[in-house]
Amino acid sequence: MSEQHQNLAIIGHVDHGKSTLVGRLLYETGSVPEHVIEQHREEAEEKGKGGFEFAYVMDNLAEERERGVTIDIAHQEFSTDEYDFTIVDCPGHRDFVKNMITGASQADNAVLVVAADDGVAPQTQEHVFLARTLGIDELIIGINKMDVVDYKEDTYNDVVEEVTQLLKQVQFDTDDASFIPISAFEGDNIAEASDNTPWYDGEILLEALNALPEPEPPTDASLRLPIQDVYTISGIGTVPVGRIETGVMNVGDDVVFQPSDVGGEVKTIEMHHEEVPKAEPGDNVGFNVRGIGKDDIRRGDVCGPADDPPKVAETFQAQVVVMQHPSVITAGYTPVFHAHTSQVACTIESIDKKMDPSSGEVAEENPDFIQSGDAAVVTIRPQKPLSIEPSSEIPELGSFAIRDMGQTIAAGKVLEVNE
Ligand code: GDP
Repeated sequence: MSEQHQNLAIIGHVDHGKSTLVGRLLYETGSVPEHVIEQHREEAEEKGKGGFEFAYVMDNLAEERERGVTIDIAHQEFSTDEYDFTIVDCPGHRDFVKNMITGASQADNAVLVVAADDGVAPQTQEHVFLARTLGIDELIIGINKMDVVDYKEDTYNDVVEEVTQLLKQVQFDTDDASFIPISAFEGDNIAEASDNTPWYDGEILLEALNALPEPEPPTDASLRLPIQDVYTISGIGTVPVGRIETGVMNVGDDVVFQPSDVGGEVKTIEMHHEEVPKAEPGDNVGFNVRGIGKDDIRRGDVCGPADDPPKVAETFQAQVVVMQHPSVITAGYTPVFHAHTSQVACTIESIDKKMDPSSGEVAEENPDFIQSGDAAVVTIRPQKPLSIEPSSEIPELGSFAIRDMGQTIAAGKVLEVNE
């Protein structure tokens, strides 16, 4: 086991092979318990089937997915020489977008899966776009299903070119991207260099994963715990639950919930059904605060220290990038904003500046509208109280997505909060 931890997102268009790649990585790194494999080996031998271990991993993943009622992201773990990886699997496209935005996934780096026989598809574009906006540092691009295209070098090069164009379009630094021809299904160039691609002498996938940069250390910002749900548990009382994004919570701390604007002393903290004296970033906790009842707080509240409470925005300024909008966005537009665990309708009060996508410089002051592909600085007024933070201070609570008509139409980062 290594010391360093990485949250890895597997992104890409539906059916391009994300789940198969997750299964392959778990299998190749031996992250499936031996006794379980043994059991299935016997079963498979009886049935005269080959490739049983890998098939087992895939079955198991499918099962986890079906159970996905309570856990909305399936966490899988594997270790390489350099890192312990937690895979933030992105089975359904909608889940991924939501998780990326609400911070639930918090991926440091990502593997983009692009099927060689299909090339760049709509969700490839959307995921790359979100990865860039929401701060993925480095991308490994697995050009998958090479077996389907007979391991042809020309086809690989064409898809690499297509993806490179896409990265440039969203200003993702192509120096931070590496391309690998793979077959998740057959195992080519995953753990060992494949004989099927003699024309390729670059890194294989596990090497590329080992070579990822170390994630930035967690911010030493004060406690921020967005509330997912609020339960009433007999014998304990009101129990808000959520994941600590930054900071530490100790029993005895004085905390407040914003925007509900109530607070008290932390009486108990529970994690994995056990009481703990303290919890840290990444911990999913249920806790109990003296004097707080079920109707005092709600999903979307952020819990923080009483002496450094979460901000509540009267208005905020943000940088947004419009991904896909059928017409134009003008001042007065009021879509739903998704930030951490809250969903609040917000009005775009003014469009302050439009940026030049290639230089990042101001292209136009106070434009009348923005449209798909545009980046802009806008002023936003939430229609209900919203707790959000400048991304320069607490990046974990400083990003959001704008959804309308059932899709993500824009994503952004908070520049300034006016309380
Ligand atoms: P996801 O929707 O991106 O998670 O895609 P899946 O992993 O579910 O794969 C979709 C289909 O493509 C499945 O039938 C897989 O068996 C198949 N598939 C995935 N990777 C490969 C590959 O490398 N080669 C071949 N031939 N099929 C693959």
